[in-house]
Amino acid sequence: MKDIKRFIGMAALAVLVIIAIVMGVRVANLVDLTRVEMATTPTPVPPTRNIMQVTIDPNAPTPPPVLRSGSQGEEVWQLQTRLQELGYYTSSVDGQFGPGTRSAVIDFQRQHGLDADGIVGEGTKAVLYSAAAQPKPTAPPTNPPTAVPEVIPAWVRSDGMPLLVNREHFMPQGYQPQELVDMSSYCPGNIVKIKYSGTQAERVAVDALIRMLKDAHTQGITVWQVSAAYRGESYQQQLFDQQVKEYMDKNDLSYADAVSATKLTVMEPGSSEHHTGLAFDITVPGVAFKGTEQAEWLADNCWDYGFIIRYAADKEDVTGILAEPWHIRYVGTEHSLPMRQQNLCLEEYIAKYGSY
Ligand SMILES: [Zn+2]
Repeated sequence: MKDIKRFIGMAALAVLVIIAIVMGVRVANLVDLTRVEMATTPTPVPPTRNIMQVTIDPNAPTPPPVLRSGSQGEEVWQLQTRLQELGYYTSSVDGQFGPGTRSAVIDFQRQHGLDADGIVGEGTKAVLYSAAAQPKPTAPPTNPPTAVPEVIPAWVRSDGMPLLVNREHFMPQGYQPQELVDMSSYCPGNIVKIKYSGTQAERVAVDALIRMLKDAHTQGITVWQVSAAYRGESYQQQLFDQQVKEYMDKNDLSYADAVSATKLTVMEPGSSEHHTGLAFDITVPGVAFKGTEQAEWLADNCWDYGFIIRYAADKEDVTGILAEPWHIRYVGTEHSLPMRQQNLCLEEYIAKYGSY
């Protein structure tokens, strides 16, 4: 009895094992089947794009390509390379006409008097690839003024003198010259005639003028007149406005054009040397000053008395003012003598030894 029980038990166990094995195989097969199915299901293929076919007619005239913001490709690549050579473009050459390229183009156009629109049309292109293309001017060095020990700032007084006054360097607003004297009463009448009563100038300059003209007399050059000296800003404004009005009335110019025309001959208020109280217009009554013996004597000798010929003929391109042999400016001999020796006008002298 005991044996039968054991046999049944063994048999049951065997059946269970067999069932388990069979089931296991089935499950394994199922898994495999799933795997096969997954592998054979085609993965979705993206639809093929429609590639536009552009037919180019080789005989059609090609319009000159205009490059502007948004342009790209070989032409832009060339443009950037050229602008980089000339120093206008500093970003990477990538063939993309972006804001950096545009501002480089505008820079270039401004430098060459072209319409600064940032668009490279025929005109800009012609200049850009010609020998007329100028490299970008390098900015003036911004050295701290302490780099040079003997600095002469553009505006020195008290009393290092050289006051640079021109179209770029205006007088400080409300500037008052030191110690103005009335020239008619101050100057000996036998030495110099003062054309307009009420003419004033700084004492230090008038003293030097008298010393100079006395010496001229001893050398036989005797007829001298002062036709202009100190001019206040409001008087200069008056002169300026008067000329503008004349251009508008007589030459039928617009206000803007009249102002531009006036700027060529009358200094803007604030930019006239005569505001300093240190400048004189020397004349000979009744004759044009240029070419007179007085003019020659002045050009040769004024330096020894602390004066300079402020607007010399050989410095027109620097001063931007047509030669004025009659206009002298007092700077003091410590400056006038080296300026004569080195043939420097005031702009050059200050650029060399001072700083703006
Ligand atoms: Zn003058």
